[in-house]
Amino acid sequence: MNEVHLSKRLQAVVSCIPRGMRIADIGSDHAYLPCHVIKRGISSFAIAGEIADGPLHSAKQQVKKSGVGDCVDVRKGDGLHVLTAGEVDCIIIAGMGGRLISRILEEGKAKLAGVTRLILQPNIGAVHIRQWLMNNGWELVSEQILEDEEKIYEVLVAQRGEPMKPYRHVEKELLLGPFLLKENSEAFRKKWRGELQRWEKIVQNLDRSQTRLDTLTKKEEFLRKIALVKEALA
Ligand code: SAM
Repeated sequence: MNEVHLSKRLQAVVSCIPRGMRIADIGSDHAYLPCHVIKRGISSFAIAGEIADGPLHSAKQQVKKSGVGDCVDVRKGDGLHVLTAGEVDCIIIAGMGGRLISRILEEGKAKLAGVTRLILQPNIGAVHIRQWLMNNGWELVSEQILEDEEKIYEVLVAQRGEPMKPYRHVEKELLLGPFLLKENSEAFRKKWRGELQRWEKIVQNLDRSQTRLDTLTKKEEFLRKIALVKEALA
């Protein structure tokens, strides 16, 4: 992979960026994504945010090598703190866990003024992101699920507006994704078959351990999720 040939996962993320939007890629690492969107003319301005020195260095090198230094600003910092409100239209956070992505959004709420689109690609725990979007007035407008190098990824796109609807099956939709649930694709079924197996093993192990209250609560939680997933795969 490089800034010209992105992974299938990053291509899916890029496909959600409306042409002409100024973007921030938070946790940019190698900065392949911002370099790619500038070179392809999808955006005219991009910020690559990175917290760690190693990736920050590779991002700077990549921007230089790609010759896009006038359009890509590489900044060091935690989450959305690298941004000034109103600087970008679209924020991308990809390749992290859903909990971390939600924390970054929560701590950076003040920087979301003027942002109209969020593109979020959690490696795990998309449920935390859907919950955050629902609680914070962002409408989930599309979802993708795809397999890339034997791993399954989800891409969530949100816009300001109505919170996630419908609410009738809110727990199931938060866990599985309302659009993905409806589509019920092969990648979706594969992901949840795998999770089901993993959770069933955990429940067996919990059964063998002492029946403390926290163990019972944990077991109930898993059994509830197992039932929701089984319903979706039926
Ligand atoms: N976004 C790229 C992608 O999807 O290929 C890189 C993903 S990489 C696994 C995650 C990157 O996020 C790492 O480079 C890490 O240093 C950075 N990161 C983690 N927490 C961060 C935070 N709070 N703020 C900014 N960057 C962060």
